[in-house]
Amino acid sequence: MERLQKVIAHAGIASRRKAEQLIQEGKVRVNDKVIKELGVKVSPNDKIEVEGIPVEREEPVYFVLYKPRGVISSVSDDKGRKVVTDFFTLIDERIYPVGRLDYDTSGLIIMTNDGEFANSLAHPKSQVDKVYVAKVKGIPSREAIRSLERGIKLEDGKTAPAKIKFLSMERTKETAIFEVTIHEGRNRQVRRMFEAIGHPVMKLKRERYGFLTLQGLKSGEARELTPHEVKQLR
Ligand code: URA
Repeated sequence: MERLQKVIAHAGIASRRKAEQLIQEGKVRVNDKVIKELGVKVSPNDKIEVEGIPVEREEPVYFVLYKPRGVISSVSDDKGRKVVTDFFTLIDERIYPVGRLDYDTSGLIIMTNDGEFANSLAHPKSQVDKVYVAKVKGIPSREAIRSLERGIKLEDGKTAPAKIKFLSMERTKETAIFEVTIHEGRNRQVRRMFEAIGHPVMKLKRERYGFLTLQGLKSGEARELTPHEVKQLR
């Protein structure tokens, strides 16, 4: 038995607080009966509807995928390009990515059908470290890198301080490689940060998400998270 608001949140329909609000507003039915009080528990066989729409209930599942470049972080693409769910054709659950990686970015992405888990990780307040390896055009100055570390003004506001570690450079090709750690997850953030200092990113890979790494995975491979890993991420 689980609390009604938890089941609604898990299905990805609303946050837990919003689910409570929906219940109190009389928008939720259990077995065709409107339930307005909080704290009601439901079993897997109970029929739940929110605003008349049935709530699909599935066992929560959690995976980590090593996304290759050239894949969309979405469940479908109107242009017919490859999407992250194409790597999970053998499972029945309707999973989706937690946050996104750009089409051209490779690396670690979490996939789940647990809406509450996904929302809390993708929330701007989530302080999970995301570690990227970025190959950039040209050799940035120390001062330019320092400005990224302090936080740099982008069109959607100043970035939070980032950790940037120089890894290597190729003088003849005029490229440099950095490890970049951020906890925000704005759209194309790492690319926009380096663009802002005049050194566009040529290649980008997410190596780590919190304590999760790509260890043991090849590009295009996925594995299920252990219950312990899921607990640690919550
Ligand atoms: N930053 C980017 O610029 N792209 C990504 O895919 C992730 C972070």
